Amino acid sequence: MAALPASITALISALGKLPGVGPRSAERIALHLVQSDSAAVRQLADAMLQAREKIRFCDVCGALTEQSPCSICADARRDASLVCVVERAVDILSIEKSGAYRGKFHVLGGKISPLDGVEPEDLRIAELEKRLAREPIKEVVIALGTDVEGDATSHYLARRLARPGLKISRIAYGLPAGSGLEFADELTLSRALEGRREMN
Ligand SMILES: [Zn+2]
Repeated sequence: MAALPASITALISALGKLPGVGPRSAERIALHLVQSDSAAVRQLADAMLQAREKIRFCDVCGALTEQSPCSICADARRDASLVCVVERAVDILSIEKSGAYRGKFHVLGGKISPLDGVEPEDLRIAELEKRLAREPIKEVVIALGTDVEGDATSHYLARRLARPGLKISRIAYGLPAGSGLEFADELTLSRALEGRREMN
């Protein structure tokens, strides 16, 4: 079998590094691109670059946004007494899709995992403490996954954030065990939010 030209091999290898793209898909996309209209490929490359250059993290909540504070942080109609703590910026999208939540968010940026070298100071916990001091927050709703790190991080947060007058709750189980929010459908997520339980 004749080897593919080096530029195609390089493209396949770059595409294969994307999440969810296996070797076969990478090859299919690469072969599609090199046979596509050059203007269409340029448009795709431009869209990727533009998105990358415009998107940043919200200084307040850590969401992906084009301007900081993001539209959720800046929205005065949202309930500022509620803050939902999620692992990653994309988890905000899952919760927003459920339509069951009208408060604000805080992205931790990961879960505590000593084996992977992730300690509490690597997460945006100090930023959350600053928000607790500055914003009229009455309840922190912890919405981390139900795996071991999610459990450990939730309990750590409940202890560290505990202060008079602040309720700390965790969304109810019923989420797929050992998984993240992205695997929960909208109904499950909205029930999990409504059924959240106070931690102590
Ligand atoms: Zn924000």
